[in-house]
Amino acid sequence: MRSACISVKLGIRERLSPSCGSNMLSCWLSRLCRGFSTPTGRITHLSRGSLSRTLVLSSQRRIPEFSSFVARTNTCGELRSSHLGQEVTLCGWIQYRRQNIFLVLRDFHGLVQVVIPQEESAAAVRKILCEAPVESVVRVSGTVISRPPGQENPKMPTGEIEIKVKTAELLNSCKKLPFEVKDFVKKTEALRLQYRYLDLRSFQMQYNLRLRSQMVMKMREYLCNLHGFVDIETPTLFKRTPGGAKEFIIPSREPGKFYCLPQSPQQFKQLLMVGGLDRYFQVARCYRDEGSRPDRQPEFTQIDIEMSFVDQTGIQRLIEGLLQYSWPSDKDPVVVPFPSLTFAEALASYGTDKPDTRFGMKIIDISDVLRNTEVGFLQDALSKPQGTVKAICISEGTKYLKRKDLESIRKFAADHFNQEVLPVFPKASRNWNSPVAQSILEEQRSGLIRLMEIREDDVVLLTAGEHKKACSVLGKLRLECADLLEARGLVLRDPTLFSFLWVVDFPLFLPKEENPGELESAHHPFTAPHPSDIQLLYTEPEKVRSQHYDLVLNGSEIGGGSIRIHDAELQRYILATLLKEDVKLLSHLLQALDFGAPPHGGIALGLDRLICLVTGAPSIRDVIAFPKSFKGHDLMSNAPDSLPSEELKPYHIQVSWPANSEAEKSSLNQPYCPES
Ligand code: ASP
Repeated sequence: MRSACISVKLGIRERLSPSCGSNMLSCWLSRLCRGFSTPTGRITHLSRGSLSRTLVLSSQRRIPEFSSFVARTNTCGELRSSHLGQEVTLCGWIQYRRQNIFLVLRDFHGLVQVVIPQEESAAAVRKILCEAPVESVVRVSGTVISRPPGQENPKMPTGEIEIKVKTAELLNSCKKLPFEVKDFVKKTEALRLQYRYLDLRSFQMQYNLRLRSQMVMKMREYLCNLHGFVDIETPTLFKRTPGGAKEFIIPSREPGKFYCLPQSPQQFKQLLMVGGLDRYFQVARCYRDEGSRPDRQPEFTQIDIEMSFVDQTGIQRLIEGLLQYSWPSDKDPVVVPFPSLTFAEALASYGTDKPDTRFGMKIIDISDVLRNTEVGFLQDALSKPQGTVKAICISEGTKYLKRKDLESIRKFAADHFNQEVLPVFPKASRNWNSPVAQSILEEQRSGLIRLMEIREDDVVLLTAGEHKKACSVLGKLRLECADLLEARGLVLRDPTLFSFLWVVDFPLFLPKEENPGELESAHHPFTAPHPSDIQLLYTEPEKVRSQHYDLVLNGSEIGGGSIRIHDAELQRYILATLLKEDVKLLSHLLQALDFGAPPHGGIALGLDRLICLVTGAPSIRDVIAFPKSFKGHDLMSNAPDSLPSEELKPYHIQVSWPANSEAEKSSLNQPYCPES
């Protein structure tokens, strides 16, 4: 039978090999599965009053039992030549079937080839395996055999073996699918979210979620077992917190009373410190009603941490150790300590508080070089007290950027920042006809070349104005230019590089956007002022620096925290006098601070964003099992959904429909139609 099929099989085997993408992913998954066994065991004895007992700090090195308690002996992806001759039972989904001879079975661990028996005596098994549609779920039992010589598939981790089936059972058949589950088949995100349970079957989603789970496991181990943190859950039905992000409100059965979903467990974690639980952590779900942003979700997860008797350096070293410990073993190791920049330095050199430090192109102040300029708009800016001229140098810009790119850069600056930006070509041999180039004197040109270390083919983008505004526009253009250069083939940001950075010494307050005469907290109102700036609180509060720190990775903020105010009087002064908040809303916290609150501080890491960067996923939605759409909807279940008015009655609320919302009202009875 086998020899009769050989010529057909050879062709089939070639086509059977899954796409390179899913193959690579299944290799990663195998590595991921091996990675489960990395932690080292350590046992210590804890003796403190009645808590005295043996504490196992970390489980012994072992490979997890993927097939315990279930109706399989092995996973599809784990079988190798070392399993030859073994009788196995596998459960999985049908990935491919070719000419009723082979079937490729898939589970989270990988793919394995099953040979469909051709002999008459196996007609019943053949019927099941030949008739079950792709993505049906089956159980097969049989023997692990080696593939005939020359028919091994080196691209497949299980490519040396196949399964000679004895029995098969269709566990559940699969109807016609809305899309092919295979990773290489492109689908719109709306469709993926609508059928998320199918999308989760892809190797990519399996990898992302399993890597996430592993990293969280290692974080727990590091925090609880190695450093004595206590994992404590805090309420998600809470009340409004003044200052900070907008919160979701939840109606209650008491007329006019509402809960709020917490934007973070900030108050609870501080209260835990007052309660003597001096090392707290939680994988905490947080909620912010901030509308749609590409890298935000209305609900998201933080690794939330608080410690008593700690300073800024203590928190920073803890987090560096945490990331180093939980970092996936297939990535370059995390190097600690992370570098640090002050907020003022970050703004001056990168135009942002979350600089991407994987590449240079820093902002340089060239005001002194151009002090005697004859260029009108530069003269104008420099004649003002806060006026500056700033520039960035785009290496090899004349080679990679086109005239229309520079035009669109200028238009972007004009449209979004109302800023004039001029390209200058100080050393270019080509005549670029820069409108200011002619007006820049020879000594200014050589001054620029020296200060900015300009080389042949470099382009300088120059802007003028108040420090913060000029830096912000150049910071944005720096990133735009990096994208443009990379689109033209220059590699500026090594994709394997993870560039961590602490940003410190933020201002404690910022002018309110809607009313710049008033102050608001730059982060949250519980952040302690910088010890050297306390006196300024009573004279020039806008100049006070805070003890806040942000953790930045490759240009994204992945965490932030602070040393907190533990003095009730200072907290009351900041809330009531400087921020003009209603202190009654926080009377419980203020009272607690008065009852021997220890000095404390903490941090929260944005888990979704961190995992997104680690996996290289295009969006945080790719590392969340059931994310919301860009507009905050669950496209699978259609949440948020309407409720009949009778169901709102117990909550004493009724919908006030906006004008022209007939369609919405009637959507109560309409079938669900997802976002496109
Ligand atoms: N609660 C803060 C946040 O969610 C973090 C912190 O200060 O610990 O941003």
